[in-house]
Amino acid sequence: MMKSITLKDFFVEVPRWCEGCGNYNILATVKKFLVDHQIAPEQVVNVSGIGCSGRMSNYLNTYGIHAIHGRPITMGLGLKLAGKGLKVFIHSGDGDALSIGGNHLVHGIHRNFDCVFLLYDNQTYALTKNQTSPTTPMGCKTVTHPKGVGAVPLNAVLLALGAGASFVATTADCLKDHLYSTIQAAYEHRGFSFVHVLQRCAHYDTNHFNHLFHENRSFLVHEDGIPVATDYAEKTQIIRHDPKDLENAFKLANESKNHLGLFYRDSNKPCFEDFLLEEGKKTQQKPRGSILDPYKINLMS
Ligand code: SF4
Repeated sequence: MMKSITLKDFFVEVPRWCEGCGNYNILATVKKFLVDHQIAPEQVVNVSGIGCSGRMSNYLNTYGIHAIHGRPITMGLGLKLAGKGLKVFIHSGDGDALSIGGNHLVHGIHRNFDCVFLLYDNQTYALTKNQTSPTTPMGCKTVTHPKGVGAVPLNAVLLALGAGASFVATTADCLKDHLYSTIQAAYEHRGFSFVHVLQRCAHYDTNHFNHLFHENRSFLVHEDGIPVATDYAEKTQIIRHDPKDLENAFKLANESKNHLGLFYRDSNKPCFEDFLLEEGKKTQQKPRGSILDPYKINLMS
C-alpha cells in the first residue's frame, strides 16, 4: 500500500515570521492543499523572491529556490521548460513582483506558462522595515516617505488583466476557506494563475487591511467562480460576475472596493511550454550534421 502524504512530509522548521503575520496562514493553506490532494513533495517546486514571503521556499519541504530579488518568475519559467513535469508555485511580494520584478511579471503573464503565482500584497517592503512599495496607499507614512506617499497605488489586478493573464483572482490570508479554494482553482487552471493575496503585515500594518474585516469588501460569485463560505457571505456584499466576462472584470478591478474572487479565467489560452517543448522535440530529431552543414543552410552560395 502506498504511504499517504501528511503535513509532516512538508515540515522543515518552525517559521520565523512576526507573531500574527498573514504568511502563516498562507503557508498552512498551501501545505493543507498539497496534503489534501496527495501531491508529493518531489512533484512540486516552490520558488520565491526576496522579502518576508521569500522564506516560503525555505519552509516547504519540496524542491525550492529562494531566488534573487524580482526573479522568481524567471526561475519558475526555466524549471517549467526543463520539462520534468514539476508543479510550479511562485511566491513573490508586492515589492518583489511589482517593482524590481515588474518587467518579469508582465512577461511571465504574457507567456502564460503553467504555474500558481501568489502575490503577497502587504502594501509595504516589510523586510526592509516599511519602505514604500508600489501598492502602499497614497498618503501613508513610510521610512522612505516620512511625509506620506505621493503616488496612487498600483492596481495589481488591473495590471494582470492588462498583461493578458489567463487567470486572475483576489483573496486574503485571513479568509482561510476562500484562500484554499482560490489556490485550488489556480492549481487546476493550466496557465499563469495570478493570485493576488491581501496579506496582513502585523508588524508594520498601519490599518491598511481593516477594511477587509469590515464594510469595504465584496465577493464575486458565479457557478464557475470561487465558492464563498456562507458565514463570510452573510456579512458581505455579493456580486455576481461571470469569470469569462473580461470587460466586466476590468470594470470591477477599477473600483476602489476590494473585490474578492475570480475576476477572469480563459482556459483556452495556449501555454508557452507546450509550444516550446514540442518544437524542442522536433529539433532534437534532426541529425546535428544537417543543422550545421553550411551547404544545406545555404551560407556558401
Ligand atoms: Fe510578516 Fe510584516 Fe513581520 Fe514581515 S514584517 S514577517 S510581513 S508581520
